[in-house]
Amino acid sequence: MSKSLKQYRLLIWISLILILGFIAVLATSYVVSKDALRRGLSENMLPITGDNVYSEIQKDVLRPVFVSAQMANDTFVRDWILEGEQDTSQISKYLKEVKARNNAISSFLVSDQSKNYYYPDGLLKTIKETEVRDQWFFRVKNLKTAYETNVDIDMANRDSMTIFTNYRVLDYNGKFLGAVGIGLTLDTMKNLIDSYQSRFQRKIYFVDKKGNLVLSGNSFKQKKINISTSPGLDQIAKQILANTKNDSLHLEYYIEDESIYVNSRFIPELGWHLLVEQNLESELKPLQKLLLVNAAIGLAITLTVILIVLLSVRRYQKRIEKSAATDSLTKLLNRQAFDFVFQQAILDSERSRQPLCVALMDIDHFKKVNDKYGHLIGDHVLKEIAAIARRSLRESDVICRWGGEEFLLLLKNCSLEKATSISENLRSTIAANDFSRTTDLAKGRLSLTVSMGVAECKVHETEDSVFERADVALYQAKESGRNSVYFSE
Ligand code: GH3
Ligand code: MG
Ligand code: MG
Repeated sequence: MSKSLKQYRLLIWISLILILGFIAVLATSYVVSKDALRRGLSENMLPITGDNVYSEIQKDVLRPVFVSAQMANDTFVRDWILEGEQDTSQISKYLKEVKARNNAISSFLVSDQSKNYYYPDGLLKTIKETEVRDQWFFRVKNLKTAYETNVDIDMANRDSMTIFTNYRVLDYNGKFLGAVGIGLTLDTMKNLIDSYQSRFQRKIYFVDKKGNLVLSGNSFKQKKINISTSPGLDQIAKQILANTKNDSLHLEYYIEDESIYVNSRFIPELGWHLLVEQNLESELKPLQKLLLVNAAIGLAITLTVILIVLLSVRRYQKRIEKSAATDSLTKLLNRQAFDFVFQQAILDSERSRQPLCVALMDIDHFKKVNDKYGHLIGDHVLKEIAAIARRSLRESDVICRWGGEEFLLLLKNCSLEKATSISENLRSTIAANDFSRTTDLAKGRLSLTVSMGVAECKVHETEDSVFERADVALYQAKESGRNSVYFSE
C-alpha cells in the first residue's frame, strides 16, 4: 500500500461507513414507506374512494326509487286504476308533473287490467306478453320485491344511460294493479366517476351480479367486458361476485408484473358491485422520485463532509510536516528545531565553560549542478553531502539544514582551532568524493566543493551575532575562490 493510501485509510473507512449507513437508512425508509403506502392504499384510501362514490351515487340511484315508491303508493294512481282508467288526461297530467319535478327522462304507468302503457303525453300503446320489449312488465308482475332497477341505453337519447325503476302498484288489499316508475339519466353519475378517476388516478366501474361491466367512466375503453374473463381481474372475480354483503373487500391482482389493488363493495339497491382500482406502481413513482432526490442530497452532503475532512486532514498534515523537527530530504534537523538545540547547547557551554563553535557550509556553484543534471540529481547530491557530514562528525555534534544548499554544524566542546580543522577535513572529504557513483549518473565523474565559515560562540554573545560572524567568514571563503574554510576571530 502506498504511503498516501495508508495515510487516508482511516478517511476511506469513515467515508465507506458514512455511505453504507446512508444507503441503509435510505433503503429502510423506502421499504417502510412503501409498506405504509401499500397498507394505506388498500385499507384506507381505496375504501374511502369507494364510500364517497357510493354515497354520491346513492343520491342518484335511490332518488328514482323514492319517487317511484311515492307514485305507487299514491291513492290517486291506485283509485284511478280501480275506477277503470276513465280519464287518460288525468293520469297523463300526473305523469307530466312527476317527470318535470324530478327532471326525469320519462315517467310511466302500465295497468295490469287493461295492459295500457300511459306516459306524459297520454296513452302510448297496449303491451303484449308476446312482445320482447314488453317482457319487463310480466317480470315485474311476478317480482317478490317491491321494485326493480334497470339500466338501459335510452333509445331516444342515444348515448345517455338511463336508470329505470319499475315499482309494483298494489290495491288496498295487496292485489297487483300494475307498474309505475321514472327513468333518470345516469350521465351525472358517469361524470362523477370520471372526475373521481382523474382526481385520484383510480379506475372506478360497476359490474352486475354476473360480472358484466355495466357502468364506468368515459375513459373505459372496452364496453363489453366480464371480470371473470378479463386478464388479471379473473384472479379475483369469484371473490368479488361472492361478496353480496354491503361491506368492502380488499383484493389484489397482478398483471404484467404490476400489482393492482382493488376495493370492491356490493350495492344492494342496484345489485351491482362497485370496483375501485389503483396501480401500486404508479402510486410509488413520486416516492421513488423523492428517494432519488434524497439520495442526491445525502450524497452531496456526504461528499462535502468527506471533502472538508480531507482538506482539514491535509492542512493539518502539512502543518505537522512543517513543524516536524527534521528536513524531509536530508533527514537533518531543520532550522526551527535547531534553534531549540542551539539554545540548549549555549546553556551547556556556559555552565561547563567549554567552547562551542558553529560552521556554515555552502555548496559551491550548486546552481550549475541543478542546471546541468536536473533537480533530482541536485537533491541527491544534497542528501549525500548530508550523509558525508554525518559520518565525518562526532555523535554529539549537530548538523542542520540551514537553507537550500546551506548547512550549519554545531560543534560542542570544540575550540575554534579544532572546529576549523574538522571543517577543513569535511571540505576535503567532499572535494574528493565522486557524487556520480551514488546518483545513477553514468557519464563521468561528478565533483563538488564546499565553502565554509567558522565562528566560536563568545560569552554572552547573541545567537544572531555568532551566525553573522560565521556568515561573514563564509563570504570570505567564497570571495577567495571557494573550496576553502575561513574562520572569524
Ligand atoms: P555559490 O553558492 O557558489 O555562490 O553558487 P550557487 O550556485 O550555490 O549559488 P546560490 O546559493 O545562489 O544557489 C543555490 C541554488 O541551490 C539555487 C537553488 O536552485 C538550489 N537549491 C536550493 N535548494 C535546493 C534543493 O532542495 N534541491 C535542489 N536540487 N536544489 C536546491
Ligand atoms: Mg547558497
Ligand atoms: Mg551555493
